[in-house]
Amino acid sequence: MSLTVRFWGVRGSVPAPGPRTAAVGGNTSCVEVRCGGETIILDAGTGIRGLGERLLAGGRPVSASLLFSHVHWDHIQGFPFFPPLFRRDTALVLHGRPDHGSLESALRQQMTAPSFPVHLGAVPAALSFGEIEPGQPFEVGSALVRAARLNHPDGVLAYRIEVEGRAVVFATDTEHHADGIDRDLVALADGADLLIYDAQYTPEEYAGVIGGPRSGWGHSTWVEGIRVARAAGVGSLVLFHHDPSHDDGAVDAIERSARAMWPGTVAAREGLEIHLAGGSVMSGRAA
Ligand SMILES: [Zn+2]
Ligand SMILES: [Zn+2]
Repeated sequence: MSLTVRFWGVRGSVPAPGPRTAAVGGNTSCVEVRCGGETIILDAGTGIRGLGERLLAGGRPVSASLLFSHVHWDHIQGFPFFPPLFRRDTALVLHGRPDHGSLESALRQQMTAPSFPVHLGAVPAALSFGEIEPGQPFEVGSALVRAARLNHPDGVLAYRIEVEGRAVVFATDTEHHADGIDRDLVALADGADLLIYDAQYTPEEYAGVIGGPRSGWGHSTWVEGIRVARAAGVGSLVLFHHDPSHDDGAVDAIERSARAMWPGTVAAREGLEIHLAGGSVMSGRAA
């Protein structure tokens, strides 16, 4: 069975549309994982709108599981604009575990007047909620999912999705520890084919050589991503959650620097599709 990962939103913090970011993309966090007949959606940033349109274009009722890393705006902002929400034949299972309250209450709060005119309870789609207990694996169709808490203000979950020995790890919005590598993330990513990692800042930005220091803001760098990738023995590293101030040239430069240190690195771009099957990793830009 194959496992396909497609990026619909790769930006962190706030959407960054425009000609300077057109190649990388300006939408916030949303990644689609397909395995067998199953659709798993990681986060509901603004990228989820395009994914919803694509799912509806298939002509069949939409059935999907959503795994939320956390409920900061850039990870839930697209949810009220996910077109399948407004169809009776859609069935969604929503998983997450915010540190404050439940996932359902966070999404409900977002879809409340005067911020949004349609209340979550009024959408036609069938929604069910699953609370995640970090460390306790659960099944989504043929996939085994595990979660781990990482270091981020208000808390965050990283996910490992595994199907017949193929594994992808989604570790966005995490800050490396000052006193050493995050052992929980290394354990979660152990031997994974793909590690998607928060590389919002360059090492210079993080240290405050450029602008003020960003330590304590909950994000990491490509250098720290490579450190985790090496320690966990992953196949490939995908740099994710690009800073909104980084234009296409800046992301290209980060990718070049990272590849010089560790060739198995790629910067996430909207439309990037990575196919994991039968011992091979193939990537390309989808239409
Ligand atoms: Zn974020
Ligand atoms: Zn966050």
